[in-house]
Amino acid sequence: MCDFEEFVFECQHSVIKLKSRCHFARNDPNHQCFGVKMLRESWRQDGQLCDNCLANGYHIQNGVIWRRA
Ligand SMILES: [Zn+2]
Ligand SMILES: [Zn+2]
Repeated sequence: MCDFEEFVFECQHSVIKLKSRCHFARNDPNHQCFGVKMLRESWRQDGQLCDNCLANGYHIQNGVIWRRA
C-alpha cells in the first residue's frame, strides 16, 4: 500500500500526489503497486487554484474566483 496525500484547492479541485512508495512498489521495476492506495492526508490550499484552472484563465482575488471573459 503506497501512501498518498491530497491537495484541495479553492476551486474544489484536488490533486493527489504520491507521498511514499510501499515495499512492493519500490521493488517493482516500474514502481507499480497493485495494493490499495492509502490517502494519508488532505491539505487545503487556501487562496490557491489548481494548475488546470490557472491555465484556463481563472484567478483568485479577495477570496473570489474570477474568470477573464
Ligand atoms: Zn503500494
Ligand atoms: Zn481547479
